[in-house]
Amino acid sequence: MPGRLAPTPSGHLHLGNALAFGAAWLSARAVGTTLLLRMEDLDRGRARPEIMESQREDLAWLGLDWDAEVPPQSLRSYSLAGLDVYRCDCPRRTRLAGQCACRDANKSEGACCFRVKPGGVAFVDRARGAQCWEPEADPVLQRADGEAAYPLAVVIDDHRDGVDQVVRGADLLEATAVQLQLYDAWGWRPPTWLHVPLLLGPDGRKLSKSHQSAELRALRAAGFGPERVWGALRPAFGLAPARSCRLWDLIEEFEAAKIPEGPFEVGEEGRLSVRGARA
Ligand SMILES: [Zn+2]
Repeated sequence: MPGRLAPTPSGHLHLGNALAFGAAWLSARAVGTTLLLRMEDLDRGRARPEIMESQREDLAWLGLDWDAEVPPQSLRSYSLAGLDVYRCDCPRRTRLAGQCACRDANKSEGACCFRVKPGGVAFVDRARGAQCWEPEADPVLQRADGEAAYPLAVVIDDHRDGVDQVVRGADLLEATAVQLQLYDAWGWRPPTWLHVPLLLGPDGRKLSKSHQSAELRALRAAGFGPERVWGALRPAFGLAPARSCRLWDLIEEFEAAKIPEGPFEVGEEGRLSVRGARA
């Protein structure tokens, strides 16, 4: 049963992606499991073919290979059959403010929202141990234009692709609760979960497109090699710091249970370093 690398092709890969995809790769390769590559390009407005190509290049540069690339999300279809959903035509801000009353209104137009079951959802994270998260209140599973939303697509894709190891950033810990309710509604066996620490920029915000100096192609242009990237990321894997480290050597040391909660902070522009974030 495979693991997967599932980049969203809306921006170039940065150090935080290297940590998450590195952990996914190590987690699979350490036990001889195969790995799939799946482009999560649901957001067609932001997904760009040249970014997909640059992401494949960055993964290859890091040494992260995959056994097969499965069809991207934009070529797949997603069904709500079997789910307890209702229509909501409120603006997003009304929904976010908890002012939507569509749950019992029996509307025939609008986005499809999932009627979540109340209470915390328990699961085991391979690094953090026992977790219990409240699901987000009735998330949208299908937008008003018929396009699938992330929680619906990712659960159906992982099930169809036979993925049984999910490794990703800690920003998705909370989303696991809704996803587990979907697995439960369909009677599907959920994957194992591993959430790696978030990396923050020097401004204290989660790494994103705006932190261009933490992009892998910027680091490459500044003369850093992949061994320096893996060396810098060692503390975020729970390993002793080292200036440089080969990916294959990380396999020997990798242990999901050692991965700390974080978050971690990357160095200022031009300095490749990752250290525990100040509280
Ligand atoms: Zn509503």
